[in-house]
Amino acid sequence: MSVLSDAAASGFTYVGRAVRVVFGIGALDALEDEMERLALRRVLVIATPEQRESALDAASGVRDRIAGFFAEARMHVPVDVAHRARAYAREIGADGALAIGGGSTIGLGKAIALETGLPVVAVPTTYAGSEMTTIYGLTEHAIKTTGRDERVLPKTVIYDPALTVSLSAAQSAASGLNAVAHAVEGLYAVDGNPIVALLAEESIRALAGGRPAVVRTPADLAARSACLYGAWLAGTVLGAVSMALHHKLCHTLGGTFDLPHAQTHAVVLPYVAEFNAPAVPDAMVRIARALGVLDAVSGLRALADELNVPHSLRELGMRAEDLDRGAELAVAEPYPNPRPFDRAAIRTLLERAYGGSVIAA
Ligand code: NAD
Repeated sequence: MSVLSDAAASGFTYVGRAVRVVFGIGALDALEDEMERLALRRVLVIATPEQRESALDAASGVRDRIAGFFAEARMHVPVDVAHRARAYAREIGADGALAIGGGSTIGLGKAIALETGLPVVAVPTTYAGSEMTTIYGLTEHAIKTTGRDERVLPKTVIYDPALTVSLSAAQSAASGLNAVAHAVEGLYAVDGNPIVALLAEESIRALAGGRPAVVRTPADLAARSACLYGAWLAGTVLGAVSMALHHKLCHTLGGTFDLPHAQTHAVVLPYVAEFNAPAVPDAMVRIARALGVLDAVSGLRALADELNVPHSLRELGMRAEDLDRGAELAVAEPYPNPRPFDRAAIRTLLERAYGGSVIAA
């Protein structure tokens, strides 16, 4: 396989986005300098209620630049929360948003930026990767609307592995597989390109290398660094190319049946990889090589086993009677996917993921 010659033959488009990334154990110490670089004097700090104390602590080094604190971020950015956060930002005359947390918190920062144009500084504490994308989402009446807008892309991202130590082993495992899923789908994206393929393969290698150690020893900073590095690359992939069937299924299941985001990715990934494998042999070679195994699908399954993540949609609270609806929604307005599918194929895939069927690889 020669990515370069394949790409040279078919041509490609690559868009590089300007995000300033500061990475490393203790990188949070750079927050003051980074805010000065952006001339931020009155930021609104945002967090979830669960991370209220830790976010305040993380921002304590820049307390003179904080104009307000909003610790009400929630999964999938409910519209009413976004309205209140924007109103508060205006009320205090904020000149930027400092989002300290996972995808939910960074998602709220994006929602603020979308309407107000305020710059966002992101300090990610999970592996979801939202900080590297122009994708935003807002949820109203249980319907999540997503879009892309350059305004929501954070100006600066500070990745400090020390801030991820408090992420539980279970959440770390699921969030890491969420990142692996971005990289896997980046390898067979309809608008994929050789740069993204390099990032995606390296991302899987870093995440698979660090992940088991993180789950065994959550305070292992070397392993945390490997995972956060892999997550950064995965987020870059997510932001650069289109996602396919896996992401469509996870968005549908998460949005419609309220299944937990990262865990849904963790359960579904091996099933979609198995489904798509015959259509994308080169991507499977790259995934297997990154995992250090011979077969990509059984390698992904083994990684999930080692990480002890939930294995079935049933365990996540999905009901058997919702499988039909799930298949219907996933087929409506599908994302581009390398292997064509119909409702029956997706129903079968979902049924297997629901029951946690062992994949015969
Ligand atoms: P999350 O942000 O909802 O975090 C889950 C929980 O873990 C929260 O209670 C949070 O406070 C807590 N938490 C986060 N980091 C922690 C830490 N280091 N220590 C202790 N607790 C911590 O979960 P997530 O999976 O990061 O994000 C999911 C959301 O992000 C979804 O809404 C998803 O759609 C969105 N997302 C968006 C994009 C994008 O590009 N727009 C990409 C990925 C995910």
